[in-house]
Amino acid sequence: MIPSIKIGSWNISLVDDHESPDRDVEVIFKQIPIDSWEPYREIAFNKEGVWKTQWRGHLIKRIDNEGPIILVDTGMGPGVHEHTGKTGQLFYNLKKQGVRATDITDVIITHSHGDHIGWCTDIAGNVLFPNAKYHVSKKDWDFYSDTNNKTNFPNPAFERAILPLRSHGVLELTEGTKYITPEVSIIPTNGHTPGHQCVSVQSGSLTAVITGDLFHNVAQVTEQTWCPIYDWDTKLSTKSRIDLMNKAHNLDWIICSGHLPTGTSIGKIIKLNKKFGWQSIT
Ligand SMILES: [Zn+2]
Repeated sequence: MIPSIKIGSWNISLVDDHESPDRDVEVIFKQIPIDSWEPYREIAFNKEGVWKTQWRGHLIKRIDNEGPIILVDTGMGPGVHEHTGKTGQLFYNLKKQGVRATDITDVIITHSHGDHIGWCTDIAGNVLFPNAKYHVSKKDWDFYSDTNNKTNFPNPAFERAILPLRSHGVLELTEGTKYITPEVSIIPTNGHTPGHQCVSVQSGSLTAVITGDLFHNVAQVTEQTWCPIYDWDTKLSTKSRIDLMNKAHNLDWIICSGHLPTGTSIGKIIKLNKKFGWQSIT
């Protein structure tokens, strides 16, 4: 069964694409001594003691099937991927939910890293969701299309998957908060990349936020200042993480995380013994 959650008139479901190979916290969280992971060993790693991340999108669709059909992030892409030898499963997992690529009306990109934009276009640069508008943050667009940043921040995935969107006339650059519908909005949470953004679904009495790469490992719910090497500006990413997690806790929001393992990736930020923690829902 595909994990999903109902938020008022909407349903949010996972669209898994691809599981990462084993990831090394000492490499990815370079600043964090390995001993600091000890209290999180049981939740941060799998039964084999290994950390893996899931690459995925989220599908947002009204329960009455009216209105837009929104995909947030497009995973790692068709592949075959050299680091796993596997192909991406995003199209297959959309189909399993009765959704064709042509049904998608809006693709929202939380940020322009390769594991979030893989299925935007094919190798020839043709759009893979032909009826969709692609919402990309202007800050990410400006940064990664600036040739001066190519040396320090090379991003070939952006050049392959995002740059062609403009010539196809499907690119919508977002600045600040943007409403796709009165209940679905894009909210800026910059820092992981210059224009990192989350997606909020607010309907009835519930709010859910799809958080992209606001955090990668569940330990960061408690250790909110821990940053992976992928964060472009750690001061800004930490501020965005703390702000959103505090709000989520105070307002009882549901979080749909980008990379937590399937089955535990949707949850809430709770407080236990004065510390924040993760309580998964599904
Ligand atoms: Zn990511």
